This record gives sequence, structure tokens and C-alpha cells, in this order.
Amino acid sequence: MLTKKFLEQQKEILEEEKESLREQLKSFATEDPKLKGDWDTRFPKHSSGGSGDSAMEEAMDEVQEYATRLPLEHSLELKLRDVNTALEELKKGKYGICEKCKGKIEEKRLEAYPAARLCLKCQKK
Ligand SMILES: [Zn+2]
Repeated sequence: MLTKKFLEQQKEILEEEKESLREQLKSFATEDPKLKGDWDTRFPKHSSGGSGDSAMEEAMDEVQEYATRLPLEHSLELKLRDVNTALEELKKGKYGICEKCKGKIEEKRLEAYPAARLCLKCQKK
């Protein structure tokens, strides 16, 4: 049984992580106002509006930058989703329950990774 103190501590960590993930995402992505929890990577626009070879090069840089941002955005978005799910479960009093086997997630595991959704056994499978 998880103590109230432990749950409060987990909530604090999760809230902090949520803020930090949102900050990271905000720096290069925009939250989709229609779809909660969905972020769209912004296309980097730092071209100076020039023409010719340098403009072409800048455009290629932008495409490359965008391509490196996409997977990062995806992984941050997934982490943020896990953190939000964990916070929801905390509110409902269902925190620390394995999604697969409905058993308890080990306290040590929750300490190491507060947004864990599976117990160690299910994770290993
Ligand atoms: Zn499990």
C-alpha cells in the first residue's frame, strides 16, 4: 500500500516533470488547441529572405532541422502523455497499478520512474 506521503511526493515530481517537458516542447512545437496532448513541430523559419544559393542552403538547413525535431517531439510528447496519465490516476486514487496485470507496481520502480505504467514483470515481457 502506498502511503499518502509517497503519493504526494510522486505528484510533485510528476508536476515538475510535466512543466519541464512542456517547456522543452514549447521551444520548437505548438500545442494543438483542438487535440489535447498533441503537439505539432514548427517548421523552423530563420531564412533571411535572400535569394540564390544562400537561400537554397538555408532552406535545406531548415528541412534538416525539422527532420531532427520530429522524433524528439514525438518522444517528448509520449513522455508528457505518460506523465499526464499518471497525474490523472493519482487524482482518481489509481496510481501505481499496472496497466496489464492490474497488480501493484513496485514502489522502487515508481520512485525511479514516477510515470511508469507497467510493473517490472510486465515491462520485461
Ligand atoms: Zn503487471
